[in-house]
Amino acid sequence: MMAHDLLLLAGDGIGPEVMGEVKKVIGWFNANGMDFAVEEDLVGGCAYDAHGQAVSDATMDKALRADAVLLGAVGGPKWDKVPYEVRPEAGLLRLRKDLELFANLRPAKCFDALADFSSLKRELIEGLDILIVRELTGGVYFGEPKEIRDLGNGQKRAIDTQVYDTYEIERIAAVAFDMARLRDNRVCSMEKRNVMRSGVLWNEVVTQVHQDRYGDVQLSHMLADAGGMQLVRAPKQFDVIVTDNLFGDMLSDVAAMLTGSLGMLPSASLGAPDAATGRRKALYEPVHGSAPDIAGQGKANPIACILSFAMALRYSFDAGEAADRLEKAVESVLAQGVRTGDLLGPNGGAAVSTAQMGDAIVAAL
Ligand code: ATP
Ligand code: MG
Repeated sequence: MMAHDLLLLAGDGIGPEVMGEVKKVIGWFNANGMDFAVEEDLVGGCAYDAHGQAVSDATMDKALRADAVLLGAVGGPKWDKVPYEVRPEAGLLRLRKDLELFANLRPAKCFDALADFSSLKRELIEGLDILIVRELTGGVYFGEPKEIRDLGNGQKRAIDTQVYDTYEIERIAAVAFDMARLRDNRVCSMEKRNVMRSGVLWNEVVTQVHQDRYGDVQLSHMLADAGGMQLVRAPKQFDVIVTDNLFGDMLSDVAAMLTGSLGMLPSASLGAPDAATGRRKALYEPVHGSAPDIAGQGKANPIACILSFAMALRYSFDAGEAADRLEKAVESVLAQGVRTGDLLGPNGGAAVSTAQMGDAIVAAL
């Protein structure tokens, strides 16, 4: 069996702390029949400190060759004043751009032990497991023209342009259908075809891709505003939601808050399948940032980063069973009442450290 090449970029703040726990998990899988060849490198502020760039060309080469990249977090107050082009976040943006990661996957899964954390009633979210697939490189965030025009009469005009080409919609639709096949086989596509031409094309192309290649998957369509409402009213009706960059930005944050803490949320960004191997370029990372307020104190919750590795198992390494096992280990540790500080409710209780949480998850594996 060929080793799985995994590049770990722990980054700044709590990044190295949470990544340390992922390394324990990888160690467990390597001791139990899997074969990960792990490389580590710098990204973000620490990379800037080391060689004046938020991600070096050498690191970029490693990222391009790896089967998957797992990132911790970048940034922090220490680098607030560094030049814009080399700020820590620029490292993350270059990785996304050079790996051509056009599909952002944000799961929202409710762990029963944490169901009371949600802003919604327990019965609405108990057992919730949805995946938002957001188009990440097109749409109104990048379309031209994009400017503020001086109209010369004391007025200005701000212009953002929503642009989508057929191929961009085809490839994101394909990701959503592929993901659905690994889950509950249902996709809901969201746009606003009633007021946007891009919504009309989005709807047409998703429908066509479905008809041509994914007839086995159940497809539905919803206007994005109604979708937002349904997401809060009855979120369990969804399996995979596919939507554009702007709607996806908002809907994925709404979905995230259905389930609770920032310390629990993983994400993945995927590129096109390689022509020879079929493997997609992929970057996995927790949704949370570098959390400078708690960095270096052993307080960070490593679960978001550990669940990001579970996504890598599922989507990059074809190891769905291993991913299930890891997610179940997290679930059982939470059910035992093990909590990092961010997971303590208003009633308090005793918090475990980052390392204790990691150890508990490895023990549960
Ligand atoms: P960024 O701009 O990088 O997204 P941010 O300030 O928006 O950063 P975070 O760095 O994620 O967001 O921190 C937001 C809050 O959530 C902070 O108070 C932080 O301590 C807390 N937090 C974030 N991640 C975790 C974690 N893994 N464990 C515990 N607390 C966390
Ligand atoms: Mg933030």
